[in-house]
Amino acid sequence: MKEYKDYQLKANNTFGIPAKCDSFIEYAGCEELKVLYDRKVFDGQWMSVGCGANLLFCGDYHGVIIHSVARNVEVVEENDRDLLVRVEAGCVLDDFIAYAVSMDWGGVENLSAIPCSIGAAPVQNVGAYGVEAKDVVESVLVFDTRDGSICSFTNEECAFGYRNSMFKSNPQYVVLSVNFRLSKASSRQLRLDYGNLRSALPAPISPEDKDALRVIRETVCRIRHEKLPDPAVIGSAGSFFKNPVVDRSVVDRLLSEYPKMPFYEMGTGCKVPAGWLIEQAGWKGRNLGPAGVYEKQALVLVNLGGATGDDVWRLAQSIVNSVKEKFGVEISPEVIKIPS
Ligand SMILES: Cc1cc2nc3c(=O)[nH]c(=O)nc-3n(C[C@H](O)[C@H](O)[C@H](O)COP(=O)(O)OP(=O)(O)OC[C@H]3O[C@@H](n4cnc5c(N)ncnc54)[C@H](O)[C@@H]3O)c2cc1C
Repeated sequence: MKEYKDYQLKANNTFGIPAKCDSFIEYAGCEELKVLYDRKVFDGQWMSVGCGANLLFCGDYHGVIIHSVARNVEVVEENDRDLLVRVEAGCVLDDFIAYAVSMDWGGVENLSAIPCSIGAAPVQNVGAYGVEAKDVVESVLVFDTRDGSICSFTNEECAFGYRNSMFKSNPQYVVLSVNFRLSKASSRQLRLDYGNLRSALPAPISPEDKDALRVIRETVCRIRHEKLPDPAVIGSAGSFFKNPVVDRSVVDRLLSEYPKMPFYEMGTGCKVPAGWLIEQAGWKGRNLGPAGVYEKQALVLVNLGGATGDDVWRLAQSIVNSVKEKFGVEISPEVIKIPS
């Protein structure tokens, strides 16, 4: 275990925003969390941070940040059709996906290149190109900081939703590892019907193709590289806002004025792309000081250089207000503001 006092978090959030925490602790698994529990660390202010790819620090964090460096990957069950793989929380999701693809284990390839730790994947129900963590997570092992116990939650108990899970409202659980159910070639199903994935493939592929997973991974990486900023170059947290879900009556009202507005029917209403609303409100490529709206994707707010969390938050609030004024629709951040 390593502990750093008065720690600078600039390299631990993909916005690249400077902020400090009182203490930053790297731990290697549940034994070390137990030590922190005995030290009463969890009685004070604390939080888990993975890659910091969904966080906006609007000031220093007056508490302890814990960060897993446990990265083990282990096959715990295997048969002719599929396998169960246990991955520890500190592993980078994309490193695991690269490994899974190299082993010809299917299921996670569409999630390639999302900046994310394994620990945060079920918390956020991370998703892209028609696949979400909920489709591949079988169970999640956690450390309960209230009493120092360890327990496991099934997929159903995780109560996954759109970028949501029960972990979001239960921050007392620290994810230790995630069990993923992955498929072998004999039971493989490819998911290619989301967005432009199928048409972006270099050639048509089928589940029997030996290199199908590799081709999907490379295609997803290429598309993402073309449309999203690389956090190593331009700071961002990916999509800043969630896509709002509104009543059909709201969609009908908007369609009468904006007949080309895209929307997707869902069980409980209609999802409208927040990026479209923001672009129509005239924000794409604009900036307020050092915080800007990415020129290739209006859903992404970027640090143009030297931005503070407050600069980004001010821009976000201006966007929320102008979308509300123009369309009467409330958009809300996907990014977690700290302090809230
Ligand atoms: C360029 C870019 C592109 C992106 N594209 C996508 C995308 O396509 N799809 C998508 O879903 N997201 C996307 N995101 C957002 C981000 O990748 C996800 O939200 C991801 O899940 C964040 O993972 P993280 O490890 O950085 O979590 P953090 O930002 O560090 O933390 C997020 C939340 O998880 C909690 N947490 C972290 N580790 C643990 C743990 N071990 N136990 C319990 N709680 C924990 C934190 O407390 C916090 O509440 C993108 C971000 C960027 C920068």
